[in-house]
Amino acid sequence: MASFARHAGSLHESATMNLIGRAKAMRAAGIDVVSFGAGEPDFDTPDHVKEAAIAAIREGFTKYTPAAGIPELREAVARKFAADGLTGLPAARTIIGIGAKSVLFDAITVLTEEGDEVVVFSPYWLSYPEMVASTGARTVYVATDAAANYVIDPDRLAAAVTPRTKAIILNSPGNPTGTVQPDDVQRAIGRIAAKHGIVVISDEIYEHLAYAPARFTSFARLAPDAGDLTLLVNGTSKAYSMTGWRIGYAGGPKELIDRMIRLQGHATSGPPGICQRAALAALTGPTAPIEAMRRSFDARRRLMVDALCRIPGIACPVPDGAFYALPGVASFLGRTSPAGRPLPDVSALSEAVLEEARVAVVSGEPFGAPTSIRLSYACNEDAIRKGMERLSAFFGQVR
Ligand code: PMP
Ligand code: GLU
Repeated sequence: MASFARHAGSLHESATMNLIGRAKAMRAAGIDVVSFGAGEPDFDTPDHVKEAAIAAIREGFTKYTPAAGIPELREAVARKFAADGLTGLPAARTIIGIGAKSVLFDAITVLTEEGDEVVVFSPYWLSYPEMVASTGARTVYVATDAAANYVIDPDRLAAAVTPRTKAIILNSPGNPTGTVQPDDVQRAIGRIAAKHGIVVISDEIYEHLAYAPARFTSFARLAPDAGDLTLLVNGTSKAYSMTGWRIGYAGGPKELIDRMIRLQGHATSGPPGICQRAALAALTGPTAPIEAMRRSFDARRRLMVDALCRIPGIACPVPDGAFYALPGVASFLGRTSPAGRPLPDVSALSEAVLEEARVAVVSGEPFGAPTSIRLSYACNEDAIRKGMERLSAFFGQVR
């Protein structure tokens, strides 16, 4: 076998995608596993969205589309981003990609190379550093603290910026913390970016999942000074329960978007037209389904976090957005599981929880949270009750 590129050797498997697959396989094998692993809403995709896709198939809308996406959807995305604060954004400065994942990947690919740095706030969504590593660039981590509910300290960001910093990745509401970054923090990030000419990639995929009193405001609205440097990234996966349709989108600086479109033209030719029609129906259709899902997630959040906080030894900050809880489990590390497994770290702990308690949780390790585990509450309340009972029994018997 020929040798491989250095960056390919440093890529890690996605722990979230792996766990999603494992939990589904265990269920298919008849094992009663409660999955708090996947960041994937359990709701069905709204009917009007499905109907739009079915209509597209029936009318034969089954061919290649322009590499940047279908014009109607790009128009809808441009209107959405303009309403978010990227005022006057033309459709030509948008791109439709295969999930937010692919537009993030394209942006990082065309922006960075070996010798460049990208700032990521930790804990972070585990794919960011992998995307950065895939171009040979380096991730510079700026820590946030559980005690401060993972709110970013702009002074730490300022101290981390160097002449090699090409981009800052902001994710609010955040995965895995759920934190909605306060307005003044986002403004400060905008000032730092504008001062140094750094692109801010604002991943706003959880925008519709902020729970009162927290409130989502787009980075574009809060930091207009950084407008020329702001790439907004969003998608239909979380808000419309459309993970499998694989539609994401971005809007921002023309030169950046142009290069992303060229890359997509060679790499994938863009997402399926059928899914783009479905996304158009989602973006331009009724907002009631989004509201209903948000209310459910809020109730589930309370149920899960309350139950977690009742387990002796667990410390769980209350997340204000997304659908993840990130409890600290440091007090269990270095001990022994109920069935006798050593628990040296959170990866061993998550494995023991899956094997012994039949609950899928993700180790915090690949998220830069090495003493926490991540639990998704994007599942029904009965599953949350059952899973929390199992976890409570498990942690109660750790020796
Ligand atoms: N950003 C964040 C923060 C995420 O958690 C996810 C997870 N799916 C994505 C982007 C990618 O979403 P998708 O590719 O399904 O649009
Ligand atoms: N983003 C979701 C998660 O963190 C889905 C899996 C993935 O894309 O990583 O669980």
